[in-house]
Amino acid sequence: MELVNLKIASERVSFGEAVQRGLGQEQGLFFPEAIPQLPLDEAFWQLDFVGRAERVLGAWLADELGQDNVSALVRDAFHFAAPLVKANERQYCLELFHGPTLAFKDFGARFLAQCLSLLAKDKKMTILTATSGDTGAAVADAFYGIDNINVVVLYPDGGISQLQEKMFCTLGNNIKTLAVKGSFDDCQALVKAAFSNPELKAQFGLTSANSINIARLVAQICYYFEALAQLPAEQRDNAVFAVPSGNFGNLTAGLLAKAMGAPIKRFVAATNNNDTVPRYLQSGVWEPRDVFATLSNAMDVTSPNNWPRVEALCEQQGWPLADIGAEKVDEAQTQARMKAMHAEGYLSEPHAAVASEALVRQLQDGEVGVFLGTAHPAKFQGAVEEVLELDVPLPPALAAVVDKPILSEKLDANYEALAAYLQRAL
Ligand SMILES: *Cc1c(COP(=O)(O)O)cnc(C)c1O
Repeated sequence: MELVNLKIASERVSFGEAVQRGLGQEQGLFFPEAIPQLPLDEAFWQLDFVGRAERVLGAWLADELGQDNVSALVRDAFHFAAPLVKANERQYCLELFHGPTLAFKDFGARFLAQCLSLLAKDKKMTILTATSGDTGAAVADAFYGIDNINVVVLYPDGGISQLQEKMFCTLGNNIKTLAVKGSFDDCQALVKAAFSNPELKAQFGLTSANSINIARLVAQICYYFEALAQLPAEQRDNAVFAVPSGNFGNLTAGLLAKAMGAPIKRFVAATNNNDTVPRYLQSGVWEPRDVFATLSNAMDVTSPNNWPRVEALCEQQGWPLADIGAEKVDEAQTQARMKAMHAEGYLSEPHAAVASEALVRQLQDGEVGVFLGTAHPAKFQGAVEEVLELDVPLPPALAAVVDKPILSEKLDANYEALAAYLQRAL
């Protein structure tokens, strides 16, 4: 797989290099030069999730890594299901929250961890990352127990929910967690400072597990095929996918699936009040505003970092940008949709509700809607309980960590403290 830097067209790299570097020169995103095609015969649709993912990712990566390695990566990364569940007469939810940290980010983070483990061989590496909650959990869990890779997660002390903290600060072993006496921005600044010190970077093999990493993106292609496989065969060509969007990685993965031949009729990008993309698709003007805090807080993003990939793909494929539907769903509409779904017999959380509402507005006769369920309702327990006035029990994965002790160390928000910690702890 050859990738090109979207900012510097002369920079071309292999998948392995793109995975280990994350971003190219001048912070350019890596983008595939050619999209492999998949033969979609009946046998393909009959495979199980892992078998189908081996084919999908093999089409991208077998040349470079070997099909046996790709298959092993897939088997280790995807050990949980992605069921398609009927939410009402016209809509299905593709439930992507049955992984260890109950959010779709488990797919990308786990595949990235397996890729890095394969590529780094015995080289010592350290993933250094700042989190405001969810990414830290997915990354920590994904790398837990991978011997040659240490993970250091920084988070604002007292700035994340207790449940979130329990999910990644109780693991121990190769997962080190630091409660920084400062804000999320302070955490990010510390990580940046560490990466800009070449000696420190070399000494510990510092790498980021950033959400723009190409390994995370290709992993997410697999579940679009999964949704199609689980639809009744006669509906497979009429599916409209609504994607609850923040940084637009999920939508990019869906478009890549379509470019590989997936018979997806069209996409609807669904946002909350942070509606840079819906406004842009209407007006042609890219005009990010200040961030609104919403119930669907994983989508509180106003400068989505994957958008250049969406544009590059549409241009490469000759698809008009205007073919992507877009809907902004405000807070009242999100809550109303959660209540309506609950009345229809489906319990959902705010992110998925935004996408479901977009389908209510956009579905036409003869079409079937699929919205992505990006998080388990219990992960947004507070919001769900308040809006729906009911108790949401914790699933076993969460219940199991609630009583475990937090293993984090406190850290002053300065670079010397972080450098000293790394020297001592790694
Ligand atoms: C990260 C996240 C999103 C947004 O996904 P993008 O790929 O950034 O668009 C949506 N829902 C949940 C629950 C998330 O954690």
